[in-house]
Amino acid sequence: MPSRAEDDELLLRLRRFQSDYFPLHQQRFQDLVAQGQHPKTLFIGCSDSRLVPYLLTGAGPGELFIVRNVGALVPPYDGSRGQHGTMAAVEYAVLALKVERIIVCGHSHCGAIRACYDGVPDEARALKSWLELAQDAVLPVQASPEACRRTEERSIVLQLERLMDYPMVRREVEAGHLTLHGWHYVIEDGAVHVFDAQQGAFVPAASSTHTGTGPYAPYVEHDGQILTD
Ligand SMILES: [Zn+2]
Repeated sequence: MPSRAEDDELLLRLRRFQSDYFPLHQQRFQDLVAQGQHPKTLFIGCSDSRLVPYLLTGAGPGELFIVRNVGALVPPYDGSRGQHGTMAAVEYAVLALKVERIIVCGHSHCGAIRACYDGVPDEARALKSWLELAQDAVLPVQASPEACRRTEERSIVLQLERLMDYPMVRREVEAGHLTLHGWHYVIEDGAVHVFDAQQGAFVPAASSTHTGTGPYAPYVEHDGQILTD
């Protein structure tokens, strides 16, 4: 441990935040306290340190409600995972904050997906159990960069499908108040590939006309009626 405050880099950064950054955005933060937060987006992302949601989306304070976990995985809404922060975040975001979109963001070179093939240390019991949430995305092949890439993408779609099992998510999606977006961030290219349900594929944002269309054709058909096109 550093013996002097001047040697503690993290402490210096905290001080710098208050002295240098905060004054530039003081009004924004104080408005957000006075009026409360009204983020329109729930961002479910992998914990990986190379994934920086604010950089990717150009968002600032008050814009993203974020929950991150190993692999950007979504537990099933059947209570089988006990007390779970990700489930609580989805409920709060949809029911209380009334977000308009949910993004599930995985990424290239994801250690969680790789571990689905390579296994984890015996002591990591919670991790082993947690990674079962990506099992259905795993391919019956040897681990390879290509297999991992495909599994990363398949897992994102799997989590979107699981989100649709959350009653409040399905209800708001079918009512046209909420959209689901699957993103695969390719770290080395700085490119986000968005899931296109019609094409059944991930499309680079550079050539996509949207930011993702959810696990199913969104609100095209509900009880046989066309709601929107
Ligand atoms: Zn990851």
